[in-house]
Amino acid sequence: EKLANQIAAGEVVERPSSVVKELVENAIDAGSTTIDVYIEEGGLTLIRVVDNGGGIDPDDLPTAFARHATSKISSGSDLFRIASLGFRGEALASIAAVSRLSAISANSDSGLARRLVIEGGTIVAEEPANAPQGTEMSVRDLFYNTPARLKYMKSIQTELGHISDYINRVALAHPGIAVTLKHNGSSLLQTLGTGDRLQVIAAVYGSSTAKAMLPISASDPDFELTGYVSKPELTRANRNGITLVVNGRYIRSFAVNASLQQAYHTLLPINRFPLAVLEVEMHPSLLDVNVHPSKMEVRFSKEAELKALIEKAVKAALGAQRY
Ligand code: ADP
Ligand code: MG
Repeated sequence: EKLANQIAAGEVVERPSSVVKELVENAIDAGSTTIDVYIEEGGLTLIRVVDNGGGIDPDDLPTAFARHATSKISSGSDLFRIASLGFRGEALASIAAVSRLSAISANSDSGLARRLVIEGGTIVAEEPANAPQGTEMSVRDLFYNTPARLKYMKSIQTELGHISDYINRVALAHPGIAVTLKHNGSSLLQTLGTGDRLQVIAAVYGSSTAKAMLPISASDPDFELTGYVSKPELTRANRNGITLVVNGRYIRSFAVNASLQQAYHTLLPINRFPLAVLEVEMHPSLLDVNVHPSKMEVRFSKEAELKALIEKAVKAALGAQRY
């Protein structure tokens, strides 16, 4: 069991940002409206995620760390979960196998919480605690017992860069959640959770960038598109400024990147990409989930229609600016 967890850990936990991703996804799944992320030394010494979600029943806390103990794929409505089937119910067990983890959770405001400490997959403490409803996961000394993996960690700045990029995308994807990120005590991101996506764009990219964004919206029978794209002067040579949110999840799509590039092509050289935050709602059956889940890439079965819709919407927004 312990060895299995360490092996699984190799798949789920590649680097500190993978831990952050799993913990934050759990916090989102728990219905949190605030998520606070504290990082020290690029996540190698501490990753702490504190949420105000539904929490875990005190009696169930150890179960949450047992492999395959949970399977939230009950309805089949969330195809993103099915796409990442291999990882489901393994994240916490895997993380706990390669770190010193402490969890505090309460599923009510009764003051009845539970605290669990796991080191290298072994429970070393379990006791009553006092905490408001929600969950706090602290992951210390990641990979302390797997030196081979530790050796592959890049610089603190590189690891922090991955974490920060992921948290920025989560905040952009969930403007209704107040998200904070702190590294070694200094604040890197703070969003308000008001649901105003432009506020999140300002928090992530700065307020002058937010002012240079154009709202877009369009729909057809299959897709509903909303979001913001930058004026042409705020374009870049790479795709990193594009955030695509499909049915509430941040994902990547070559097709969408290409259609954005195409929409700006009449104004700019073909190798320029805008800053963009696009949200697309569609029936889950239109998503091709047979794409590697860890890269968060999907394809769409009506890709040509989606591309056309995006191009049309972006050109309309740019045209309205009389460029
Ligand atoms: P999965 O998310 O695939 O179920 P995990 O190992 O990530 O597997 O989590 C195991 C279980 O622990 C979850 O299904 C959930 O019931 C519980 N859990 C984990 N994190 C939280 C959290 N932040 N808030 C509430 N419940 C949580
Ligand atoms: Mg999970």
